[in-house]
Amino acid sequence: MKDLVGLSREALLTEVTALGEKPFRVKQLWQWIYNKGVTDFTQMTNIAKPLQKRLAENYFISRPQIVTEKNSTDKTRKWLFRFADGKEVETVYIPEEDRGAVCLSTQVGCQMGCRFCHTGTQGFTRNLTAGEIVGQFMAARDSYGEWPSPTDETRFLSNVVVMGMGEPLMNYDNLVTAMRILMDGEGIALSKRRITVSTSGIADKIPNLATDLGVKLAVSLHAPTDDIRNQIMPINRRFPLKDLMEACKEYQQKLEHRQYITMEYVMLKDVNDSIEQAHQLIDLVKGLEVKFNLIPFNPWDGCPYESSSNNAIRRFQKVLEDAWFPAPIRVSRGQDIMAACGQLKSVFHKEQKK
Ligand code: SAH
Ligand code: SF4
Repeated sequence: MKDLVGLSREALLTEVTALGEKPFRVKQLWQWIYNKGVTDFTQMTNIAKPLQKRLAENYFISRPQIVTEKNSTDKTRKWLFRFADGKEVETVYIPEEDRGAVCLSTQVGCQMGCRFCHTGTQGFTRNLTAGEIVGQFMAARDSYGEWPSPTDETRFLSNVVVMGMGEPLMNYDNLVTAMRILMDGEGIALSKRRITVSTSGIADKIPNLATDLGVKLAVSLHAPTDDIRNQIMPINRRFPLKDLMEACKEYQQKLEHRQYITMEYVMLKDVNDSIEQAHQLIDLVKGLEVKFNLIPFNPWDGCPYESSSNNAIRRFQKVLEDAWFPAPIRVSRGQDIMAACGQLKSVFHKEQKK
């Protein structure tokens, strides 16, 4: 038995051909699975009963199992999903007024070990498959009953941010397969402008994102110098800032359309929040089209940092804005259910044990 969710169109064609069926079955299956959200072959009304039966004998259309679902007072929703092998990840939906973003995980845990991140403390278990990445989005859709895929203008689950657990570019091939499925016009049909992939800075993979997917890029920059970045993000020893900025330039050059890069910057008290550092940051991003996103540090049990004060964040923001960089401060969502940036974790979660 094989799961059809997560197969690329090409892989699906291979399966269909193996059954002795014509290529047009790919289109039919694709629409049922990704546009209508059907998980039961008997609901596929344009497929004759005998073929429905053969499909059901050989394949299934999966969803991750929902272990818990939590709703924040600010309407953010967080799921703990369990996959076939029992491994779990967290996924978050962050509603805005008339739309919203699903925050997807790409790995069980994370091996990057950023010092300020809760996910980092659980270590790395495994990569998610393309089906497991797409499956989180589909299960979120089930939860809001948003099938068949509405038009772009009317959907609530309108955006995807790959900012959950794990480092997406360490699971590059599955990320690409999953995002292509989400973007396919005959299925879920998310436009590439509505997908943002966030990376801690796997520089050698960044330029490929432009050509393989063309989605938006967010970089977890978090420090203006190698000295500071080395202290808080071990990946910086492998790809120092010079390489990272070079990769960002290449990404921007390779894109078909002009698109700014979001530089994420978590505000850590007395670590990276001085006025001088704001000026260094401006120098660092010369030659790039960027927007900053200042993230107040979200604490977790046993974390070694404190968030910068509101005053310090605003001072920092002013320096960037005076140099004409957009630098909004990210409003933390879902803090009461530990759903905010950097708070996700799928083992030994105190709050999950309750
Ligand atoms: N692994 C990817 C994406 C997931 S994290 C990455 O690191 O980019 C999404 C964002 O939250 C990243 O910018 C990450 O650095 C930031 N983050 C991690 N821990 C945080 C914390 N405790 N408070 C605020 N932001 C945090
Ligand atoms: Fe991994 Fe991102 Fe957390 Fe760093 S910030 S440990 S890359 S999930």
